[in-house]
Amino acid sequence: MSTYSLPELPYDYAALEPHLNGNIIELHHDKHHAAYVKGANDTLERLEEARDKGDFTSIVGLEKTLAFNVSGHILHSIYWENMSPDGGGRPEGDLADAITEHFGSFEGFHGQLSAATTLVQGSGWGVLSYEPLGKKLLVEQVYDHHGNVGQGSVPLLAFDAWEHAYYLQYKNVRPDFVKAMWDVVNWEDVNTRYQKAIAAK
Ligand code: MN
Repeated sequence: MSTYSLPELPYDYAALEPHLNGNIIELHHDKHHAAYVKGANDTLERLEEARDKGDFTSIVGLEKTLAFNVSGHILHSIYWENMSPDGGGRPEGDLADAITEHFGSFEGFHGQLSAATTLVQGSGWGVLSYEPLGKKLLVEQVYDHHGNVGQGSVPLLAFDAWEHAYYLQYKNVRPDFVKAMWDVVNWEDVNTRYQKAIAAK
């Protein structure tokens, strides 16, 4: 059975400076993200043991732990690719049109995603998602890695609001970190994800 693995960063640790310091990216990727990958694989092993023994007394905790770690792995895998040293600015083309259609304006979308990220209570994420049933773009506020989201929605742009994403550089001032995130958004990657999401059957 295949296991989850830590993807390589698409740039050097310090490539996003001055917006995000290299020591943040190094710890975040090599320690935090790696822990979610290990957690996902360990939990799959424990579920296999439970099936072998026919003992599902720990199933509730295991399923929650699986969701936490798999979702953490997926969101971080998207997060790294959502950023680029050449990022920032605004989206173009189809994605820009869709943002205007679903949020009224880029400014409206910018305000909503900034607020969703800044005002996460505790740990979580602000995420632009495509919801395929209603064919809508939504901003979702994710608690931890997996709560409070629409089932089936596809994350396109994820802003990590956990303290580990910014504390070494921005201390307690999460709004300044969120401002910095907009300067590194890789809109080409977000647009590629959008095109794939709307094409999926
Ligand atoms: Mn994180």
